[in-house]
Amino acid sequence: MHCFVLTYFLTFLIGLIRPTIIRRIIQIILLSVATLDFSINFYCLFHLKYFLDADLLQLILGTDINEAKEFASAMVPTWVILLLTILLLLLIGLGWLSCKHNMNLGKKASLVALALTTIAIAPHFHIKYLWKDGPIYRLSELLEYDMPNQLNAYYSHPNISFNNQQQDMPANVVLIIGESFARSHSSLYGYDKPTNPCLSELRDNSLLFAFDSINSPAPTTAESIQYMLSTYSHSDDNNTNKKWYEFVSIIEALQECGYGCSWFGNQARHSIKNGTARLYAEACNRPFFLQQEGSDSFNDRYDNVLIDSSFQYINQPDQKHSPRFIIYHMMGSHFDFKMRYPSEYNHFKEDDYASEPIEHRTILATYDNSILYNDYIVSQIMNLFHDKDAVVIYVPDHGQVMYRNQKRPDYYAHGFSRDSVSYALGVEIPFIIYASPVFQKQHPDLMSLINSRQEHPKTWNSDELPYLIMHIVGIKEINGKDVKDKSLLN
Ligand SMILES: [Zn+2]
Repeated sequence: MHCFVLTYFLTFLIGLIRPTIIRRIIQIILLSVATLDFSINFYCLFHLKYFLDADLLQLILGTDINEAKEFASAMVPTWVILLLTILLLLLIGLGWLSCKHNMNLGKKASLVALALTTIAIAPHFHIKYLWKDGPIYRLSELLEYDMPNQLNAYYSHPNISFNNQQQDMPANVVLIIGESFARSHSSLYGYDKPTNPCLSELRDNSLLFAFDSINSPAPTTAESIQYMLSTYSHSDDNNTNKKWYEFVSIIEALQECGYGCSWFGNQARHSIKNGTARLYAEACNRPFFLQQEGSDSFNDRYDNVLIDSSFQYINQPDQKHSPRFIIYHMMGSHFDFKMRYPSEYNHFKEDDYASEPIEHRTILATYDNSILYNDYIVSQIMNLFHDKDAVVIYVPDHGQVMYRNQKRPDYYAHGFSRDSVSYALGVEIPFIIYASPVFQKQHPDLMSLINSRQEHPKTWNSDELPYLIMHIVGIKEINGKDVKDKSLLN
């Protein structure tokens, strides 16, 4: 109704414009933009189950022509193009009919219709998000869009000073970036279903530490990864003219310390959500993309591919890339949940959610199964480093709302920046550190900090993740800034 009324109103106003030629030009421009907007949204909603958003814009704008073609051929089925063509022809036909038989309303009838629509639209004027969510908001997002070609071009070679000797640096620093893991669905954090048996076992053996009260910097992938991997943080949002990619990234900082950086990514290289991740990956000395093409919806490799592909690299003595900073980017619990785990992990069933509304049960069961499989994969990656001097950090890019927003009880996907309740639910994440037995022996000072932080949680945002990693590596100051100040372990 909102759209209809708005469209009618606009059409009426444009109808008043004289001379005719200017009116015609405005009509053609508006109709073209509207057709494009409709086609993209129709496709997104039908195929990807959500409307055009900033992430999708990043894909469209962040690719070159070849990638766009590749994407289009993988994603847009012929029947969608056919259907849109038929719709367009139908519209042209209707326009022609209305002209030929003079089906326009007369002046008086138009005024009556205008009055009626004004009455209909009036109660909606105060609803802010109807306007914020509309085409004007989209356009402003489009104008704000900003993505460099590569990060290395912005390397600034920061001044770094160390606490002790550089020999104390851990030989393996590992970062596992998870996907869409809501803290409320982790049994490590009190969820009533056993979704984290493997990680719990590691915790019981004093190898794993789970930290409470930690939020992700954003409820969506691309934005969150910008903050997590660069020293750019929320406090810089309004305080600087520098762009996020002009800040030192954790990859650059560790490369400056002599670390060889590798990236094992199981999200599609050319994916909607992945523009920023790809930039960071390509800044690494050895980037491996295990899913090359298309969208994440079509990814057919489970996350175990991360273990298989990195096993040999981890166990190879590698003088050239030592010490090592290894980043894993998981598919985790990316929607569509049921595509994220093999059939053996079909453990939770609809019946296990008897107290939940019937239409929520399949999603809850498949989500928890994806968390269960994630538990296995993350623990296996940690086990790869059991006999090495290694610290492994697991942090998802963001959480999921999972039906907890009472204003929108049927919504489960990622949080929205413009709705404070949904945002707060969408950024609640687990945060886990694994310390191998060798690491625990060689870095007792860090271990006492980790132990005490686990016992006394502090509110912390993972946009400060680079400072935690630099703290662990033994960096005292970067460009004159104290690293410990922003670290989780301070
Ligand atoms: Zn994500």
